[in-house]
Amino acid sequence: MKYIIFVFYFLFLAKSSILAQKSPVFTLVIDAGHGGKDPGKPRSKANLLDEKEINLLISLKLGSMIEHHYENVKVVYTRKTDEYVSLQDRVDITNRYKADCFLSIHGNSSRKKHIYGTQTHIHDQKSWKTNILAEQIDSALQHKAQRVSLGIQDHKDRKQHLFLLKKLTMPSVLVETGFLSHKADEVFLNSEQGQKLITNSLFRAFKNYLDKIKFHSVVRPQLVYKIQITASHKKIPLENELFDPLGVTVEEHFLPEKNDLFPFKYTIGHETEKKAVDKLLDWVRQRGFEQAFIITMRK
Ligand SMILES: [Zn+2]
Repeated sequence: MKYIIFVFYFLFLAKSSILAQKSPVFTLVIDAGHGGKDPGKPRSKANLLDEKEINLLISLKLGSMIEHHYENVKVVYTRKTDEYVSLQDRVDITNRYKADCFLSIHGNSSRKKHIYGTQTHIHDQKSWKTNILAEQIDSALQHKAQRVSLGIQDHKDRKQHLFLLKKLTMPSVLVETGFLSHKADEVFLNSEQGQKLITNSLFRAFKNYLDKIKFHSVVRPQLVYKIQITASHKKIPLENELFDPLGVTVEEHFLPEKNDLFPFKYTIGHETEKKAVDKLLDWVRQRGFEQAFIITMRK
């Protein structure tokens, strides 16, 4: 009896130590500059976007990439829609969530229309973490997005205080992704490809930042969505006419599990986004595979 109690006690201890070791959560605030009545730099042509819209597109995409990649990074947005948020409210939101890091995303503008390139702003150089984040952003924009960098600037360099950077005490950076007053920069930032390059660079910079500050990040297992067309107790040749209506390559997976009489699974698709696989499922069902359904697999 004594022995059994001891075992239970031991299990209890083991369980509580697992809980105590739960990985820490890192909170990142992503701040899409401007919004609502404040467009930032307005579009130069009707078919282009205002600065506030470009900032939001990049912010949302970056946040979702980070959340998809890390299990223990929480992303907070100061805005997720086209709404006006005052600078003080942005500070309050960031402090309320006790953010570990703050990143503000902007597009630049100058009366000198020939000026182009990125700028990375910090308050001062006192915080080593802020310096690392700024260096990583500046470097990724140059090497990954092939942007020309106008450098990292603190309040002395620019002879001006930036309200957000001055008020916030955690590592904080404001990035100017290009000059919307410059023709080519504006076209680049309006293009999907340009936004993607900027987003990927900021993601890379953030990833490097976490590594350099030695944050114990937990990467999510990368899953892909597939459509299961059918399952069978024995192999079906992939050239079988059953698959003809699909006209695409069908994959075979052998997944023997206890009590599963149909271990051979036949799928199509390799999607990382739910929306895309939903669309694919509709397509498959329209081709007569009404029993098809979505499955997830490790990449
Ligand atoms: Zn701005």
